[in-house]
Formats: sequence, structure tokens, C-alpha cells
Amino acid sequence: RASVGPKYLSGLNPEQREAVETLDGPVLVLAGAGTGKTRVLTTRIAHILSQGRARPAEILSVTFTNKAAREMKHRLGQMLGHAVEGMPWLGTFHSIGGRILRFHAELAQLKSNFTVLDVDDQVRLLKQLLQAENIDDKRWPARMLAGLIDGWKNRGLTPSQVPSGEAAMFANGKGGKLYASYQERLKILNAADFGDLLLENIRIFREHPDILRQYQQRFKFILVDEYQDTNVAQYLWLRLLSQAPSSLASPRVREEADAQSAAGEGDSPQAGFVEAAPHPNPLPVKDGEREKNHVKNICCVGDDDQSIYGWRGAEVDNILRFEHDFPGAKVIRLERNYRSTGHILAAASHLIAHNEGRLGKTLRTEDHDGEKVTVTGSWDSEEEARGIGEEIEQIQRKGEKLNEIAILVRASYQMREFEDRFVTLGLPYRVIGGPRFYERAEIRDALAYLRVINSPADDLAFERIVNVPKRGLGDATIQLLHDHARKRRIPLFDAARAVVETDELKPKARGSLRDVVAQFDRWRAQREVTAHTDLAQIVLDESGYTEMWQKDRSADAAGRLENLKELVRSMEEFENLQGFLEHISLVMDREGGAEDDAVSLMTLHSAKGLEFDNVFLPGWEEGLFPSQRTLDEQGRAGLEEERRLGHVGLTRARRRAMIYFATNRRIHGTWSTTIPSRFLDELPAANVEITESKGGSAWGGTGGYGASRFDDMEAFGSTYSTPGWQRAQANRNRGGGRNGGGGRGGFEEEAATFSSSSSGPDFGSF
Ligand code: ATP
Ligand code: MG
Repeated sequence: RASVGPKYLSGLNPEQREAVETLDGPVLVLAGAGTGKTRVLTTRIAHILSQGRARPAEILSVTFTNKAAREMKHRLGQMLGHAVEGMPWLGTFHSIGGRILRFHAELAQLKSNFTVLDVDDQVRLLKQLLQAENIDDKRWPARMLAGLIDGWKNRGLTPSQVPSGEAAMFANGKGGKLYASYQERLKILNAADFGDLLLENIRIFREHPDILRQYQQRFKFILVDEYQDTNVAQYLWLRLLSQAPSSLASPRVREEADAQSAAGEGDSPQAGFVEAAPHPNPLPVKDGEREKNHVKNICCVGDDDQSIYGWRGAEVDNILRFEHDFPGAKVIRLERNYRSTGHILAAASHLIAHNEGRLGKTLRTEDHDGEKVTVTGSWDSEEEARGIGEEIEQIQRKGEKLNEIAILVRASYQMREFEDRFVTLGLPYRVIGGPRFYERAEIRDALAYLRVINSPADDLAFERIVNVPKRGLGDATIQLLHDHARKRRIPLFDAARAVVETDELKPKARGSLRDVVAQFDRWRAQREVTAHTDLAQIVLDESGYTEMWQKDRSADAAGRLENLKELVRSMEEFENLQGFLEHISLVMDREGGAEDDAVSLMTLHSAKGLEFDNVFLPGWEEGLFPSQRTLDEQGRAGLEEERRLGHVGLTRARRRAMIYFATNRRIHGTWSTTIPSRFLDELPAANVEITESKGGSAWGGTGGYGASRFDDMEAFGSTYSTPGWQRAQANRNRGGGRNGGGGRGGFEEEAATFSSSSSGPDFGSF
């Protein structure tokens, strides 16, 4: 069917085209992965511009990452045939919120050059506040408070709006007060944290209707990608901006009701999301124009099956509320997937069908079946990395680009093995959405300890850890050491040794510094008689570094501890400390991500919205994926979110999706026999092929636990009558003895998580 109209419209299917051309009024595109939602948004912008409906500066479009924003701009240029000048409001929620805040900084008691704090700064500041209040940081860690404040901000709550019950959750009722004094401190420091970038916008909009009106008038069109992952603050922000100026009867009252309801004060989750109050003094509008005049031209696209940020406060309900909040919204569904071949799409659809809480969608492809999804078992994670490395080299030999290859992991510590492998193979790679393994703060700290042991003259390393964990060796002490070192031209460590013999330091600092020097002397002596991996563990434990993270109750502490364990494990592959540190300097020396053509390594979470010809999905094992922590903390809801992650992973692949599991993996520092993920059970036999690992000794044929369990997969047995996880459960109970309690929680516990999931605590907002 020949299409008429501009060239950029010609490739679209009728539903996509409708979503692009329905410029007036609210539009919700609710559709599965790869159906062209992002493409619709980009084309819609092109259409708005080419129709002259708005100038670039009048379009607000929210993308999930800054990279996605750049990409969109690039595509726009291609569609329109000329570069698009100035799309200042194309970016993430944070970048756009930050930009708005800079214009009105004084209304938030800031200057326009305010600093945006990262998590570490944030925690440091909170620690000071806790000290000032005489609150024991051990009992009530600053990171926990940071997490709470972040959660409140994600829900759009200012200090005065935090429900008293929740404020009481920290330091016997001091949480709310600390939140308030934290905000005050931020202003004094001319700083904002990430949450403020939106929260201060919301506050300014509510308190200054004239400013809100300016923005409402400016933004003629609003577009939002990945709408399923918006949190309450983002939702409130969007709602404020998306009302046409005339319809703002009493926004403040209404928005606050929303925030209260979101905070759990309402009778039901939806209670506070009341219908927009009728305008007390309606302007005369012509029939049919009412909607147009009251609600902005907002277009949101999303997929409930890809909602994966529940743990960070995202509310998939925002999708359900859309029609309610924007009466007269046009809801468009797209069903044709343009990304993946038949087998991949079938596998992904079959997997997600095991979730209960779904809106339900159809997905089809007109592409050929392509290659089946492969599932490969390996003996251990090292063999897995070797196998994937070889597979990648083979793909490369066929002349395919490395840019078209991605490895998507569940936990960031999994990346280490791949990074090491790639360095050995000389394969260029980039880590997306986070630092590379050896660049993570906790890894750098641990390496700094080892570097000082290896070379006492390593001043940078010494300075990094001399007061980590806190030992009362502050800036004054460091300054003194520097003075000494400079005067006598000796390393800081030697300066420390000299200084503790004088009375230049206060007794407490002096004692503490003496301990540090003595500890390093002891570790160096031990080095001669202890295996380097054991030494590393001893150093981390005796220095108090491990304990520092164990006491830390923030969301990322557990991940950091896992990374540290992984670091110690990775040392096993080297003969001694020297060899290991040399390897590290090689890895660190590589320019990160500078190559044009490189394999992408990232977490499943960071992979949202992206696509690659070849996608590797390693680590599909119980405990890792689905993550035991998620199951423990969130029960059934957590399991469903994990399954959505699996669905996101599979649907990133255009032509090949390759799943891996290892029969042995170190989890939390202990080797244990692992069980293939229950998600493997849930893949359809017809679309999956079992392959042999290319990495060496295959797991198969050994008659090991992995193999017998594997035989039970639907892919072989094709019994659909028993839900996969129940059979997995039975298997687990059978295998319990063999597993020997090696490191992971008991299976009974896990069963309990399932049965009690409906009444489980709701951690969704933190
Ligand atoms: P996700 O949910 O993963 O974010 P999506 O719905 O945003 O996916 P897009 O990334 O926009 O999907 O599109 C997926 C792929 O399909 C892209 O490569 C896109 O260019 C292509 N595509 C989308 N629509 C069409 C079309 N009408 N004709 C040809 N290719 C299309
Ligand atoms: Mg998309």
C-alpha cells in the first residue's frame, strides 16, 4: 500500500503512523519490545517540526539515558535531511529538571552554578549531620538515611510531607528532621542531589503558578519514552507540565493529594489520584475542543512487561492511570515487532507469559524464524567466559561488527571475568552504564591497600586509604604527612613512620596512624608466608574495610561486598601479588570505550531500549538470576520483576540470543553447585536449542547435578501442566543434600518466600 505524505512517514505501519500523526491531545502507546515505540517518538518530533507545529525549543522530550537523547537527535537529522539545531529540552528527567532548576535557582535558595552531588558526597554530608546530632553512625548508617531520603524524593515528598510513620523509621523518629536539616545544608553548600533536580522543580511549580504557566505555554508538545519506569516524582512533574494553562484550578491541592496517596496515606493506592477537579470558571470552549484546551499534547510510550525499576520507586501503575488522568486519551497498541527473528520473539513471549500481573499484549513478527535461542551449560563461570570469548571471536571472523555484540549480566560483579578475558584476548570492549569492574570505588580502595603493601612508595594509593575506613586521620594529618614527605623527599608512608615518633600529632591521631603503619608492616611480613589471595582477604578484614561495607545498610552495599569477594577470587588466576597488580595496571591502562568497534558489556538494567544482532545472556542460575536477594526481599513481585528483566534481555537481540549457565559459581565468596535458572524451565522447547560449550570441558556427560536438572526443562520434557518453578522446587529439594548447604540460603526458606509473597512487605519505594 503506497503511503502518501512526507518520506519519514512512509516506512511506518498504520498504527505507528496514527501515533505519529495524532498530534492533538494525549496519546499513550502501549506496546511490546521492538514494536517501534522509540521510533514513533522520534518520527513524531520530526513530524511536529516539519509541520511547523512547534519550534525545537518548544518540544519537551524525555529519554531514558543521555545517550538515547543524542541518538534521537541524530535520527531526527536523518529523517529531516538537515541537522536539528537546538533541542534544549531533549534529555533525561534529571538533565531537564536540572536545566529548569538552574533558571530558577534562587527560588530554591541556590545559585545558578550549584553543584550536583553524587552519592558519595551525599553520604559524607549526612555523616556530618549525624555526628552533629550525636546519632550513632554504626547503628543508623548515613547510607541508610541517604536511601530513605532518596525514596522520599522519588515519591515527590518534601521534608514536611514525609508521613510521620516513615520519618520514625530512622534514629527513633529523627528521620524527618534530618531530612530537613540535610536540605538546609545543601542550600548552604550551594548544592543539590539528584532527587532535588525534580523535587525542587515540583516545589517551584507549585509555589509559583506564574512560572509553571511559562513552561506550560512553552512546551507545546511533551513526549516520554520508557513511561513504565517513571516514579511518582517524575509523574507529578509531568502532570504539572502537561496541563494546559487554563485548566489549572487548584493544582497545589490536587498534586499534594497525589503525593500523600503515593506515600501510602490514602485508603487505596489509587485513592489520591483523584479526577482533575472541574474548572470553577470554565472558559467558553467550542465542543470538541475541550480536551485540547485542557490537556497538553502529551505522548507517552511504554511497555508494562519491561518495567524493571520497581526497586527504585518506579510505578508501573502510572501507565494504568494515564487514561484516567488524561481523559480522552487515545491509546494505541503496536503489535508487530521489527527487531527480532521468530524464535527469539517466541522465547521472550513465552517467558513473560508466566507473569500474572500483566496488561497483556500481542507481539508478532513478520521476520523469518531465524536461529533458535541457544542454551549452553558450562562447568563454571570461567569456562563460561572462555566460551563466550571464543564465540565472539568466531562472530568477528565472519566479518560482523563487535558493536553488534552485547553481553548482558544480572549482577555487575559478573563483568569482571569477561573484562579479564577480553583483555587477554585483546578484544575491545566497553562497559555501559557504570564504571568498569576495576574502576569501582570499592575495588580501587582494595587495590590501594594491596598497592601500598607491594610498594610502600605508592603515595596515591596510601593517601586513598589511610583514612578509609575512618580512623580519625583527617586533612590536617594528611597535610602534615605531605609537609614531611616533601621536606625530606620521602614517600608518605615513610613520613608516617617518622611522624608517629614525634609529638606533632594529637595523641589520638598519632595512635591511629601508628596502628596503620604497624598493620602494613605486619601484612608485608605475612606476604612472604601467605598465599596472595589469603593475604588480600586478611587485609580487607583486618583493616576494617569489609566491616565498613557490612555495616552499611545502603542499597548498593551488598553489591560492593560481592565485588570485593570477586576481586579476591580473581587473584587466584595469578601466581602472586606482583603479577596480579601488573595485570590490573594493564587493564586500567586500556582506554575505556574509546574504540570505534567494541563489544558492549552491561547489566540487564542498562540494556533497556537498546538492540544488538548478537546478545549473550550469561549466568542464568538460581540465586543469581533470578536474584536471591530480590526473591527474599520482594517475594512473588520480585520474581515477576526478575522475569521482566529476562524478557528485556531476550528482546534486545535481533538475530541471535545465547543464554548460558554454569554448574559451579562462586556466590558470596563460596563455591557452590548451582541450579539452572527456573527461567530456563519457562522457555518453549520449540524455540530453544541446547548447545555444547566451546570453552573446554563441557558440563554435560558428567552426570552432574546440572545435567540431570537440565533434562527436566520444558525444552526437553515439554510438560506444561506443572508450573516450572514448582518442579524446580521439587528438584531443589531433591538436590538439597548434594548442595551441602554451600553458601546459599536454604530452599525451604525460598519456598516460604513464595507462599507468603502476597502479604510480603512492600519495598517498592526504596
Ligand atoms: P523497546 O521496547 O525495546 O524500547 P521499541 O518499541 O522502542 O523497543 P524501537 O527501538 O523503536 O522499538 O524499534 C525496534 C527496531 O525496529 C528498530 O531497529 C527500528 O528502527 C525498527 N522499526 C520500528 N518500526 C519499523 C518500521 N515500521 N519498519 C521497519 N523497521 C522498524
Ligand atoms: Mg524503545
